Amino acid sequence: AIRDKKELYFELNKKAALFYYGMLSKKEGAPAVAYFKERQLDGRCAKFYTLGYSPNSRTALLDYLKGEGYKEEDIFAAGLASKNDSGAYFDRFRNRIMFPIFNANDKAIGFGARRITEDVNPKYLNTADTLIYNKSKNLYSLNVARRSKCGEVILVEGYMDVISVVKHGIANVVATLGTALTSDQAKLLKRYFNEIIICYDSDDAGLEAKKRAIMLLRDFDIKVSVMTVEGAKDTDEFLKKYGQDRFLALINKRKSDLLYLMDIFGAKYELQINVEDRIRYVSDLLPYLAKVKNDVELDIYVEEIARRAKTGAQAIYAQLGKTRVVKG
Ligand code: ATP
Ligand code: MN
Ligand code: MN
Ligand code: MN
Repeated sequence: AIRDKKELYFELNKKAALFYYGMLSKKEGAPAVAYFKERQLDGRCAKFYTLGYSPNSRTALLDYLKGEGYKEEDIFAAGLASKNDSGAYFDRFRNRIMFPIFNANDKAIGFGARRITEDVNPKYLNTADTLIYNKSKNLYSLNVARRSKCGEVILVEGYMDVISVVKHGIANVVATLGTALTSDQAKLLKRYFNEIIICYDSDDAGLEAKKRAIMLLRDFDIKVSVMTVEGAKDTDEFLKKYGQDRFLALINKRKSDLLYLMDIFGAKYELQINVEDRIRYVSDLLPYLAKVKNDVELDIYVEEIARRAKTGAQAIYAQLGKTRVVKG
């Protein structure tokens, strides 16, 4: 039955994770150990997340699992092997740092796998979707974050960011699995947390991803705020450069989604004099205002935008296609 297949695939992924982890204490695992050292990941991190190394061999994992009595077809269906044109199976992951992905109930469901040397592509290779793994329906480290009993959760871009944050004593952090945030993930987060703190990379891609995530989370009526890792390209680099206290300060300085957008859009326009800029500023913000469901909250933002663009709140309401709730 399907249920039994799922259990089998959980088991295979768990065995694989332990196999890769075990490689760290073997001679073959030396490149991974060196890589961990370079990135300041210690044995404790590796153990906590069962990080590991997939050996540079065509069938190391297959041979091991077959030796344990598993069938090639099942290893393949569990996402751990690939098949060539002539139907021969080989290990999907080779010579990579392995990040096992667990579901909210601690079951191993798949892997993210990072290259060790720059000459290999892609940088990250992930498990393809299987009966138990769907990259749009899971989040990295949700099993850890949900147990932190925090109301807020920090949403970062990558595995390395999550691990860095947890290493610095903050457990309420998750990452998506190589895709933009999805509706299913938003629902999952809403089940466990009441505020999402977006902490994406400092590049343009990170900014676009923030805007998309804000729109999506607003649709699900989840409180969203944004923190910016100024002076670093991402969360991991920020923590390495500036440490935990500065990171905690960033969390405390986080801005609500709309205030954050008002600030970043404001920075690209001349709101003092330029009429066109003032108009564009308001239009840039309209799609986000349209997502605000609470009338009082909306009024507060409209007032603030009107003040910054030196226009009237009524005009912004008109642009929104809404009538302002007249004050008593
Ligand atoms: P690192 O610090 O190891 O270079 P990162 O965590 O900063 O990696 P980014 O390049 O910022 O990684 O990407 C963020 C996340 O996006 C990664 O953790 C991974 O999940 C995903 N990702 C990045 N590149 C790829 C890729 N080529 N294919 C699939 N997913 C990717
Ligand atoms: Mn990035
Ligand atoms: Mn990054
Ligand atoms: Mn990084």
